Amino acid sequence: MNLKILLIVIDGASYKIMEQIKERLPTLNKLIESGFYGKLESVLPSLTPIALASLVSGNLPEHNGITAPKIFLKGRPLSSPLSAFSSEGLKTDPVWVYLAKAGYKVTVTSNPQALPDKWGLKNTILFDPYKSKMKKCSDARLIAEGENKILNKVWLIEKRNSRYLIAYPSSNGEKEIELEEGEWSEPLEIYGKCGKEEFKGVTFLHARKNDIYVAPISFLNYKWGNVIELQDKVWNNVVLKHGMILDGDYHSLNRELINFDEYIKTVELAYSFFLNYTVFMLENTNWDFAITYLPIVDNLQHLLYGVDDEKAFNYIVKGYELADEFVKAQLDYADIVIVCSDHGIAKIRKKVFINKLLEKINVLKLKDNDEIDWSKTKAYYGGGGQIRINLKNREKNGIVSSKEFPKLVKYIVRNLENLVDEENNERIFTSIIERDTPAGDREGDIKITGIAENYGVSSLVKKDLNVIEKVKEYRMTSGEHGYFRKDDLYGIIIAYSKNVKVRKSYLNAKIIDVAPTILKLFNINTTNIKMDGKPIITLVEKYGTTNSYQQKA
Ligand SMILES: [Zn+2]
Repeated sequence: MNLKILLIVIDGASYKIMEQIKERLPTLNKLIESGFYGKLESVLPSLTPIALASLVSGNLPEHNGITAPKIFLKGRPLSSPLSAFSSEGLKTDPVWVYLAKAGYKVTVTSNPQALPDKWGLKNTILFDPYKSKMKKCSDARLIAEGENKILNKVWLIEKRNSRYLIAYPSSNGEKEIELEEGEWSEPLEIYGKCGKEEFKGVTFLHARKNDIYVAPISFLNYKWGNVIELQDKVWNNVVLKHGMILDGDYHSLNRELINFDEYIKTVELAYSFFLNYTVFMLENTNWDFAITYLPIVDNLQHLLYGVDDEKAFNYIVKGYELADEFVKAQLDYADIVIVCSDHGIAKIRKKVFINKLLEKINVLKLKDNDEIDWSKTKAYYGGGGQIRINLKNREKNGIVSSKEFPKLVKYIVRNLENLVDEENNERIFTSIIERDTPAGDREGDIKITGIAENYGVSSLVKKDLNVIEKVKEYRMTSGEHGYFRKDDLYGIIIAYSKNVKVRKSYLNAKIIDVAPTILKLFNINTTNIKMDGKPIITLVEKYGTTNSYQQKA
């Protein structure tokens, strides 16, 4: 038997909150008491895809290439940068590549940079369930009595007293279900058109007094794994039984399509998918090293962390309790279990819409349908603190001349610096870096690196919006991470071996240290591997040298 190591990622598990509640989490507390535990410092910006790229590559954003949610490159239009949720942007290899090349088997159940599989290595199973969502087709919606169209197919709904009769399309013709008012359906396999192709999809329905909520749809589009048959197996054995909700449906809550209780139900459904999917993958694939993932702690914290009442905090605690169960379900599968997170969380009271400010000062233009008019847009905030100028000869279809560039940058920076919250006269941006010459690839021309406490930022822009909006509790995010360099920068790390018990040991590490630590635990020669992180020595000494598993041929 080879050594088996499992890396469990609990998105957003915050060191600060963990310190408050760890005694209430039986499994995690047990691991802490007989293993290693501590703060895990994330990278800047501490946003999920950026932090997870650093976790799996052992490199800082500037070296692994995943620098922001939208990665700007020369020769691409400002409207279509590379996405951080893809392997395309990765400049250095993730840990699974080194392991696979050394002959180890790897399973990744979810990671933003797992796909597309650009490495094509043997014995490497790479999945990212989020790729089952398809733009414009996956959105949740409401349907009512009569004829409805979903994904170009007809759904017929009849209501008799409090009972709904729903006729909907499946891949082998029309099917029917009945739902009582108030009732949630089981996972529903549906059929419909997205773009030019037709797909099987899965959703849940919630029958309500006047309409039916159709939850976000996931598709069997064969884009969420590098093994086709395994996607079929997951679909049949997990998805059709437990559905495939991937996050709490914040978008619908925010648009007032659903209420808070319905939102919580979608969080529970997301948990149910990830729990069952993860166990299925651990049981049905061969691996020496596996990465698993749970999003719901982060989901709940985003919505509720800034709400100062007991109810809100109890829901967050509930998220950690589910994470605790999630870890418990996986414990027996590995010799060494490392539980970690990608960042923490910070409270916000107000949200600043940077692209709205750019629109207000006339450097960003919206069309009537609230889409950005790129042919008239001179600058754009792409998230991660980066504002990029739509520069001629750098951006494809760029409109700003190099002569105009320095003036434009100064004009925007002046407006950012002068942005003040009229309610309290507080200046919003505390640190801005501007360039006098155009930035290279993967960088902004203007970089926002500091924001006043209690303010969050968003790249969202539409006509009907103010530059600064107050958080509507239980409807809008009240927690954020990314730029605050405080609680949001610190996640957790817990390491435990069922073979080597230690007395509660404190650990202080960086997220970039995790990948080199894993390589060391597998005894991989790292002399030619460039990583910014360093192996966590105490951990390697305890778990690495004392394990008797390294008998690979
Ligand atoms: Zn995250």
